[in-house]
Amino acid sequence: AVHTETHGFQTEVKQLLNLMAHSLYSNKEVFLRELVSNAADAADKLRFKALSDSALYESDGNLRVRLLLDKDNKTLTISDNGIGMTRDEVIEHLGTIAKSGTKAFFGQLSGDQAKDSQLIGQFGVGFYSAFIVADKVTVRSRAAGEAADRGVQWESDGDGSFTVADIEKADRGTDVVLHLRDSEEEFLDDWRLRSIIGKYSDHISIAVEMWKEGEPEREEDGEKIAATEGEWEQVNKATALWTRAKGEVSDEEYQEFYKHISHDYQDALAWSHNKVEGNQEYTSLLYVPAKAPWDLWNRDQSHGLKLYVQRVFIMDDAEQFMPTYLRFVKGVLDSNDLPLNVSREILQDNKVTAQLRKACTKRVLSMLEQMAKNDAEKYQGFWKEFGNVLKEGPAEDFANREQIGGLLRFASTHNDSDAQTVSLDDYISRMPESQEKIYYITADSYTAASHSPHLEIFRKKGIEVLLMWERVDEWLMNHFSEYQGKQLVSVTKGALDLGELDDEETKKAQEEAKETLAPVLERVKSALADEVKEVRLTHRLTSTPSCVVAGEHDMSTQMLKLMQAAGQ
Ligand code: ADP
Ligand code: MG
Repeated sequence: AVHTETHGFQTEVKQLLNLMAHSLYSNKEVFLRELVSNAADAADKLRFKALSDSALYESDGNLRVRLLLDKDNKTLTISDNGIGMTRDEVIEHLGTIAKSGTKAFFGQLSGDQAKDSQLIGQFGVGFYSAFIVADKVTVRSRAAGEAADRGVQWESDGDGSFTVADIEKADRGTDVVLHLRDSEEEFLDDWRLRSIIGKYSDHISIAVEMWKEGEPEREEDGEKIAATEGEWEQVNKATALWTRAKGEVSDEEYQEFYKHISHDYQDALAWSHNKVEGNQEYTSLLYVPAKAPWDLWNRDQSHGLKLYVQRVFIMDDAEQFMPTYLRFVKGVLDSNDLPLNVSREILQDNKVTAQLRKACTKRVLSMLEQMAKNDAEKYQGFWKEFGNVLKEGPAEDFANREQIGGLLRFASTHNDSDAQTVSLDDYISRMPESQEKIYYITADSYTAASHSPHLEIFRKKGIEVLLMWERVDEWLMNHFSEYQGKQLVSVTKGALDLGELDDEETKKAQEEAKETLAPVLERVKSALADEVKEVRLTHRLTSTPSCVVAGEHDMSTQMLKLMQAAGQ
């Protein structure tokens, strides 16, 4: 090897490697899923690039990944003939972590290895998971379309640095050689590897092959059996999972596929698999995760679906097919109507994209509806993780706001608890006949909401009020003023009209009070002068003497605080 250089790993990579080597002991075999998954990605990328330049196949278009055992040297090699990497790419991809928000992520690490390894799982372990089982890793790669002498070798024992050198490599693609730790020799066992591959890689679209030794000529039950040659044997099914019929895919397979595309360690909460033929032809497989990713609230968090066109991988994180308020959804979309040379720019402004987005949105909303209907406890789990994201829905997706409204959950004076379990339909079903509107209050905290003096009259009259205190609630309610034909009204805004709920007697008492208290109001008004717009007699309070309210068309005090916090 010539032109050898030593590079230091990015700080975050060092931290990650340290965790890999010391804390991911419970589920070590995931390294194989990650490395085979990278090989499959490399095959996908080559297929995509070869659409416009078939010479890249170099007369070897049969894309596969091979596992090679060397018991004497205690190495396991994962070898692919995919896109490969140039020297610069090796340095960039195998020395840093490209994902946005990496710094923030590492800031969250606590030093508690058990906790941190959970976080790492969420982050996606990727290439560096090789160091879970290896104390030295050698990568040899040559990019598709480059000459044989443009190969590159990367090597590291996972401490703080790696070396890169130029090498000859006749075959296109990447070999990852794992020098296994003494304690990890189980991964030199042929049978063990086959079972891991079966578990993790049946559903990926590339063949995983292992060498099968030939057998000498022998005799069995008096019959002569000819010698066989050794050969590469395919050990996974290698049919892209979403192309299979629903009834033929087991729950375990769906879950494994979810982990493959999401890098999540945990099972998905629910999924929806649909093949659509006719006007539009597409297959979608959409998952709702069980746990929010650490960067759910990160603005440039990558999200979106894996896009395929006629089975050919086109891109990751195609955002155009999911509205932002459903950004937690993971999945695959395989379209027969989009052109193979589709780009992000083309997707941006495309009729097919708009139709697919509409369809995928509907799929997710009805999947959530089903979950809420059939398994309230599971839905509560979903709500806890993603409820605040879903609340962005009515503002973003006007057309579906009734359906989204049905999925919302709130705390309420009905249960006097901060658990967000009450749906608008629950609320409506409890409304007395004379009640026309849905009442809610927004505040800074549950305590502030539930102790607000604005609630006194409602408690007295036994009228349920929804309690809201999340930051997003104000935004939500600004865009969500009606559900099932019923107005949603803040109990803190404007004159309170309880309509039919006020009986004749109270009305009369109120009329009288208006007259006798008129001079008092005048005095308060002149005392407060410019501080307030108006001083009004109210019957919304029962024990507190007075309170401040926002005008009907003014920003609520909550929104004011939000704006002030944002420096406006
Ligand atoms: P991710 O796959 O999520 O991008 P990884 O840590 O698994 O993260 O891999 C980092 C990058 O290294 C990949 O995005 C890819 O560019 C490159 N890479 C890894 N393995 C291969 C491979 N077998 N062939 C080509 N490129 C690879
Ligand atoms: Mg990867």
